Amino acid sequence: MGSAPFPSPLAARLSDDVLQRFLRYVRIDTQAQEDSATYPSTAKQLDLSRLLVGELTEIGLAEIELTEHGYVFATLPGTDGAPVIGLIAHVDTTPESPGTGVAPIVHEDYAGGVITLPGDPSQVIDPAEELALAARVGHDIITSDGTTLLGADDKAGVAEIMAAVAHLVGTPEPRATVRVAFTVDEEVGRGTDHFDLEKFGAEAAYTLDGSGLGELEIETFSAFQVKVTFRGRGAHPGSAKGKLVNSVKLAAEFVASLPQGSLSPETTDDREGFIHPSRISGGVEEATVVLIVRDHDDALLEDHAELVRRLAAAVADREPRARVIVDVQETYRNMRSVIDGHPRVIAAAEEAIRRAGVEPVRSLIRGGTDGARLSAMGLPTPNIFTGGQNYHSTREWASVQDMATAAATVVELVRVWGEGETRTTG
Ligand SMILES: [Zn+2]
Repeated sequence: MGSAPFPSPLAARLSDDVLQRFLRYVRIDTQAQEDSATYPSTAKQLDLSRLLVGELTEIGLAEIELTEHGYVFATLPGTDGAPVIGLIAHVDTTPESPGTGVAPIVHEDYAGGVITLPGDPSQVIDPAEELALAARVGHDIITSDGTTLLGADDKAGVAEIMAAVAHLVGTPEPRATVRVAFTVDEEVGRGTDHFDLEKFGAEAAYTLDGSGLGELEIETFSAFQVKVTFRGRGAHPGSAKGKLVNSVKLAAEFVASLPQGSLSPETTDDREGFIHPSRISGGVEEATVVLIVRDHDDALLEDHAELVRRLAAAVADREPRARVIVDVQETYRNMRSVIDGHPRVIAAAEEAIRRAGVEPVRSLIRGGTDGARLSAMGLPTPNIFTGGQNYHSTREWASVQDMATAAATVVELVRVWGEGETRTTG
């Protein structure tokens, strides 16, 4: 065990259970897949869902269910008349980084310095680049072996919720009724496609999905996915003079016209939005560029989409024989406007974080969550930290001490909601 003190006795008490669960869950391959025709996108996600059903049964929760879409639901009954709150995490991992054969390594009592990952020694985690790691000397740090992601996104959240409800089952004090949900396919933007809010029955919910110690995320991007398809004219290249209109060149021209020094993920941070060409495919006859467009401000998001339309049209204008089709789909909306209408949801989370021994920090996500979509559907769902870092990367890592503090936060949250109108100690 690490030499760093836990911020609260409860966190210390929960740490071993969180760690053991986490190590169990990350070994199960639950990688999601883009453009799959099935739901969930990969059947292997259900391997973890089924394991969780078994563990929830062992813990003794009620109404345990694996739905036909792969969601796990369960209930921890609370004090009579107490509110019903939801706790949500996702079982799947991102397709952006290898997810098969995860071999977690616990670097006990981290002494500082560069962590070299033994499966691929070119992969290093350097505290000079990562202030959060530099601040965690004495913690137990979990990494992969460098050949895969770790899967703290979001198995840290799953382990923390599981450890919290396992603890709460045996404690008699007043508490909220808890509805637990473990979703699938969050990483491919479809985590809530079949989420039945009425059946879930919570008045507020929290995702545990990423971010650093003490953070409460109440704001996300708003997001579009844009597909720009160019249709040219094929011809045999040996006799193409005056006939061929090459879609590959049209698509390249369009991509080259996108903003370079601004409005890109690689040149922006904080609240600034971006236009990001993420995939390109096709051939001479037809080529498609897929872009993700993001902003915290809905009006600016519309402006960015408009810019994409204009730049695509400009390419087609220069070649009248070409056609361009621009398809804009909303992926999720900034949850801020919904969350702002429910101050108790924020106050309860901040009080719980404080009781777990750390100072809450309100922050924003340069991305989306299941919570963004649930909030848009009417269930206010901010995000609570998990202690995981470097998501979607083979250099992903997590602190056991921070994960235990997140689990303690969940326990305190359920108690705070069980106390009636939120009391604050801060
Ligand atoms: Zn996640």
